[in-house]
This record gives sequence, structure tokens and C-alpha cells, in this order.
Amino acid sequence: MQVSKRLLAAFTLTALAGAAQAADEVVVYSSRIDELIKPVFDAYTAKTGVKVRFITDKEAPLMQRIKAEGENAVADMLITVDAGNLWQAEQMGILQPFTSPTIEANIPAQYRSSSNSWTGLSLRARTIFYSTERVNPSELSTYEALADKNWEGRLCLRTSKKVYNQSLTATLIETHGAAKTEEIIKGWVNNLATDVFADDIAVLQAIDAGQCDVGITNTYYYGRLHQQQPDLKVKPFWPNQNDRGVHVNLAGAGLTKYAPHAAEAKKLLEWMTSTEAQSIFAGVNQEYPANPSVAPSAEVAAWGTFKADSIATEVAGKRQAEATMLMDRAGWN
Ligand code: FE
Repeated sequence: MQVSKRLLAAFTLTALAGAAQAADEVVVYSSRIDELIKPVFDAYTAKTGVKVRFITDKEAPLMQRIKAEGENAVADMLITVDAGNLWQAEQMGILQPFTSPTIEANIPAQYRSSSNSWTGLSLRARTIFYSTERVNPSELSTYEALADKNWEGRLCLRTSKKVYNQSLTATLIETHGAAKTEEIIKGWVNNLATDVFADDIAVLQAIDAGQCDVGITNTYYYGRLHQQQPDLKVKPFWPNQNDRGVHVNLAGAGLTKYAPHAAEAKKLLEWMTSTEAQSIFAGVNQEYPANPSVAPSAEVAAWGTFKADSIATEVAGKRQAEATMLMDRAGWN
């Protein structure tokens, strides 16, 4: 009994090890949830026969796990959101730079790491949303102007602990310098209608409910809420159209430093930047494809077109620590 159990255990381990070594599969760790990655993997498997195995979790434990696995790596690819998080992964030394003319051709440089450690796959604008009942869009102009007296007691924000707001602040620092950015953020904090919210959806619901008149959230949250509530009395506004443009961030991916199936993973990543994959990957989350030759879904296109900030998204990572301290000083909880 003892022996046969042991034999069985040994056999199972060998079978698993064999599976892990198979060349016709790729293993992905993703902080993007199952329903937002599986459709693109299923399409890839149908096309190539290559299996894609994945696990999902929050980005911090996934990055720690890749670090801990080290040379005994299980994951080939890390998918996560926000250039700030991808930059963190790059700093942790858990990604391997790739050279890919395909990815370089498909994805603009501003949405890729300058050391080719990761690439953006889908884009989301972090823009201004306003109450269609209490705000005339002609009152709106820029992110900076939300610090004006006119918005006193009318603004809703999400917590500064969320990387999305840290990234937005990082790009403000890059544009204006720290002193002016701190003034702007203090103005926002001064204009808050209520305590900061835990998530973007709550900000949009507060605008709809009349708790505040304007807020800043990611576009796909609006897409989700609008789908459930077509009578939502909230609309997006595209700020800074006469200067640098709207703040855009991304969901993206990199190959792990010790990827056991590096060549296969790179092929998958390249395919994920293609026309076919981009429509699926962006479409399932109401995002904008990072490949500019691919049109967004009809739902997303209905929000209108806008000029996006041309800043390199990796600035979000480079200035993240500075941004976090500044937001803290300015009293943004
Ligand atoms: Fe999100």
C-alpha cells in the first residue's frame, strides 16, 4: 500500500513535470480576471493548437510568486494592468526583455517599456465624468481646472492608494513639476464633496446619485455601469484637448525572466498585438486596442474620439514613489 501510493505519487509528479515541459503550451500569471483573458487564449489555441494555462490573482502576490520561483519558473508571461505595475515588475527583475519587430510595429512606443520588458495590450482613458443634470460640459476644460473654486464641494475621487491615481499624478508631475502638481492636488482635495471612494464604480454612482457633480475614473468602469444602467445620468468629458490630451493607461504583459517556454510565450505575446486578438482583448473589457490600426468596439466608439496624452506610460512607474508622497502631503486619502 505504502509503496503503491508512493509510486502513484511519483508517477503523478512525472506526468505534471512532463506537462510543464511540453513545448506546445504557455503558462500565464494574470491579475486580469479569467473572463477578460480566456477568450483571447481560446482563440489562440483554436488557431495554433498551443494550450494556454493560466492562474489569476492580485498583481502583488503574482509578482512575488514569480520572484520566489526564480530559475524554477512556472510562468512564462505576466499580464497585469497599469504601466505603474508593469514598471514595478521590471524593477523587480522578473521580466526578460524581448526583441520583436512585430510588437514594435503593432504597438506605439509610448505604450511599451523603453527597455522592451513589457508591452501594453489595451488602453483605458482615466478621464473626467460629469452629471448630465447639474453640469454643462462647457464648464469643463482640464484636469487642472477641477482645482478651481467653481468645483468646491462638487468633486468625487477614488482613494490615492489606487495605482490608477498614482499614475495620473505621476504624469502631472512630469508635465508641471512637483510644486505646481501639489497645488493642483490640494485644490482637488479642497473641492471634494465627500470622502474618497474605494473604487471607480462608486465614484460614478455618486455622480449619478447627486452626491457630487464631477469625478475622475477609468472609461471601462463607465462602460460596465452604463451597460447595467442605460439611463445613467453621467457622461465622459475629454479634458486637455487644447494641450497635452487625456491621461491614458494600459493593461499589458511581459515575459518572465526564466520562462520555461520563452519562444512559445513570445509568439503568443506577438499574436496578442495582432488585429484579431486586439479586438477580443480590448472588446471584452470595453477598452481601446493598443494597436492603433484596430478600431474599438461600437459601444466604446460611441463615447467619441479624443486626443490622448503622448507621454511615455512608463513615467507612471518612474515617478510613482514621488507621486505617492506628494498625494499624501496634499491630503489625498
Ligand atoms: Fe480597473
